[in-house]
Amino acid sequence: MAGRLVLTGARLIDCVAPDPREASVVIDGGRIVEILDGRRAPAAATGATVIDLAGLHLLPGLWDVHVHFEWPRVPEASIAELTLQYAANAGEALTEAGVTAVRTAGTPHLIDVALKRAFDAGRLVGPRIFAGGWFLTTTAGHALATGFARPVDGPDAFVTAIREQIQGGVDHIKLNLTGGIIGPAWDRHWHSFFTPAELEAAFAICRQRGMRVMAHAANAEAVKAALRLGAHSVEHGYVMDDEALALLCERDAWYVPTLGITHLTPSQATSVREKRYVEERGLPASVNARAEAAVGEHRAWFQRALKAGVKMALGSDLRPLRDAALLEIGLWVKDGATPRQALLAATRHAAALCGAADELGTVEVGKKADLIAVRGNPLDDVERLGELALVIKDGRLVADHRERRGV
Ligand SMILES: [Zn+2]
Repeated sequence: MAGRLVLTGARLIDCVAPDPREASVVIDGGRIVEILDGRRAPAAATGATVIDLAGLHLLPGLWDVHVHFEWPRVPEASIAELTLQYAANAGEALTEAGVTAVRTAGTPHLIDVALKRAFDAGRLVGPRIFAGGWFLTTTAGHALATGFARPVDGPDAFVTAIREQIQGGVDHIKLNLTGGIIGPAWDRHWHSFFTPAELEAAFAICRQRGMRVMAHAANAEAVKAALRLGAHSVEHGYVMDDEALALLCERDAWYVPTLGITHLTPSQATSVREKRYVEERGLPASVNARAEAAVGEHRAWFQRALKAGVKMALGSDLRPLRDAALLEIGLWVKDGATPRQALLAATRHAAALCGAADELGTVEVGKKADLIAVRGNPLDDVERLGELALVIKDGRLVADHRERRGV
């Protein structure tokens, strides 16, 4: 059990109140037990660790609700090698980027479930994981070259595959209804993959077992089909229509727009962060052309969803994870979200999407203490989230960059 930790004199962005305020936060046993406003000092307690956060902004840890742990791709990597790589990447997201929780969108061999258990038990240091296991697609489906996609064909086979995932310990089921931006010629985002019988069977077994469906749906027909069948979240939604937006609202479902997939090409990158990312990722020109052909409509549907008040959370689908959330947050703002909207999408709303709103996502008494401290006010400029000073998970200090960053 984590001991008593007292964070004094921070500018607190609790993701509830509209503005930052000066406050001290007392954490005990991994939970926030007291928040003192203004300059009131918490009672001295023996054995407590006190950290002075003067000059820093304190806020909930960041979330990324659409992640893949793989980076870089190592052809022919064994399961053991993948496991080590994923553990390192996930750990780095926590300690280097302040990403305290993620929802996985496709992980081979249920490595995400194994990592979740290891991180929860404190055997390894990493973010909280909401695990989806394999990305369930079809033969001639999407992402088959990644190693995390499992092709399934026929209604009965979907039922079996989903039951196997449930038995393996996943928190949700990822279904791949359409093609995407990255893939061969027969894998385009306007292609839908499931037969009607496969769709019915897959969603029916998820409903029966109380499993939320995370639906990769990149065209309007697939978005609508997923929502009518009870999808919990729609991922990507590059192309939607009025009816799809209305259904998102009506069904109280979530939209995770993954802007980075279409927005991060060499000709669109503007910030230093974006330029470095596109150079390092080095996607082929053909993929960049597909992204650029889709970006206009994707941006328009994101903006319309934002305006319509659709429930949205921040998920990047980018890698490596240490860069992913911050890039996606920057793109939300570039596309017209306010810094506060982007920050709430990456904290409070992401926690709600994952069913963890009672425990996480804001800085409030009673909640688990997953917190970050950054230099500067991210509500003025979200890039300040990159100036990470401290990361606290479960009430424990897991990264301290105050010296290194000259804070
Ligand atoms: Zn993905």
